Amino acid sequence: MTYRTRHVMAVTSAAPVAAPVALLLSVVIGLSGCATNPVTGRRELSLISEAQEIQMGREASAADLKRVGEVPQTEVQAMVRRLGSAMAAKSERPNLPWEFHVLDDAAVNAFAYPGGFIFVTRGLLTNLNSESELAEVIGHEIGHVTAKHSVVAMSQQQLAQIGLVGASIFSSTVAKYGDLIGGGASLLFLKFGRDDELQADALGFRYSLAQGFDVREAPKVFETLGRLSGSGGRVPEWQSTHPDPGNRAVRAEARAAELAPGALIGTKVNRDSYLRLLDGMVFGENPRHGYFEGTRFLHPDLRFQFDFPTGWKFANQPEAVVGVSADNSAQLQLLPASGTPAQALQTFLQQQGITVRQSGQTTVNGLTAAAATFDATTQQGALQGRALTVAHNGQTYMLLGLMVANAPAARAAEVDATLRSFRALTDATALNKQPARVQLVTLDQAMTGAQFVQRYPSTVSAEAVYIANGIEAATSLPKGMILKRIR
Ligand SMILES: [Zn+2]
Repeated sequence: MTYRTRHVMAVTSAAPVAAPVALLLSVVIGLSGCATNPVTGRRELSLISEAQEIQMGREASAADLKRVGEVPQTEVQAMVRRLGSAMAAKSERPNLPWEFHVLDDAAVNAFAYPGGFIFVTRGLLTNLNSESELAEVIGHEIGHVTAKHSVVAMSQQQLAQIGLVGASIFSSTVAKYGDLIGGGASLLFLKFGRDDELQADALGFRYSLAQGFDVREAPKVFETLGRLSGSGGRVPEWQSTHPDPGNRAVRAEARAAELAPGALIGTKVNRDSYLRLLDGMVFGENPRHGYFEGTRFLHPDLRFQFDFPTGWKFANQPEAVVGVSADNSAQLQLLPASGTPAQALQTFLQQQGITVRQSGQTTVNGLTAAAATFDATTQQGALQGRALTVAHNGQTYMLLGLMVANAPAARAAEVDATLRSFRALTDATALNKQPARVQLVTLDQAMTGAQFVQRYPSTVSAEAVYIANGIEAATSLPKGMILKRIR
């Protein structure tokens, strides 16, 4: 859970996908047929009017801002807003209510909601090295909006999903688990095809050039994304739905090479000014928002801990901490809830498809709690469930365990043990855990990448430092160059 306390209070439901389902329903009612694509000029299927497109984007955007929040650096937000707004103003859809936000999220990601709501993450920004690189990314996302990729994708998926609209919130929660573990949570139902991605790259290149950026920097973005995916970093959008970064780098190089002679004279990179804005930003996962130690999840800001079963896969996502057993027969999640433990449990159990077997008030490690076992009928089949709601430090949480009908008995015991392991975090070292931050270094002499990491040690791997700086061990770095170390 990456939200801070102020966000927790705003989350009112234990089922974070309720909004998109309702949104789909409201959109389906107002079918608007075919529309002309502003980029291609082609007529294509669109069930969504521009007003609806904006409304969907605005709601999804507000939900992300509430759940994840923006980085505290207002000057970074301002730079992204200024850059994005200038690019959007020269695009095919200048009159959309464009918004540009920097999410306080370690995942390396950028995404666009329909209607012109563009997000880049802290994880992305701290791995880029110039405004020119950032312009390529923001231009790419603007391209998804101007070419109406999301609108077309939503129209097609709506047709496929209309049958699902009547399903309970509960079954949507279950369906979404796979995405949570895979890391694509913020994209929900938006999946672009390869052609869309390549078109967005080409549009990003064009918008970036129109702002006077040196587009020869663009391939570096794809190289960095490729290296991050290869090193096991979280690159949700780019990893799962985007074409191979290597090919995209080659295409970006070819595009720059095809420009008329002289087209790049006087273009800007804005490397140093960009890097200076990153000084002091959190790098990687912020342990203040929760971290794992073995199978234990600890949350210093919210002051709690609990243990996942041994052998499970787990992840800390913006809206929940989630885990899946190795055999995929059971899942666990920790969510914020509202009201007293008894009220929160009641709200959850009243959902369609749930049959309560047993429920009552209890305590867990001295904390006020309520617990239930239940059966659930979902589109994915019958499930057995365990829910525990618990109050701690002014907030109510729900730990939810779900098992398929034929799950081994051991799974139920594991889920129960996890539910009973929730307790106050009191360990001083854990409570004081601090994130790593970007610290800029101006080289006082020329050196190689390898010499840089040796002379200015970081608290992350040498490879992570190379990637974040867009360099390799053998790269020659001139005197006066600004580089990032991570402390
Ligand atoms: Zn894309």
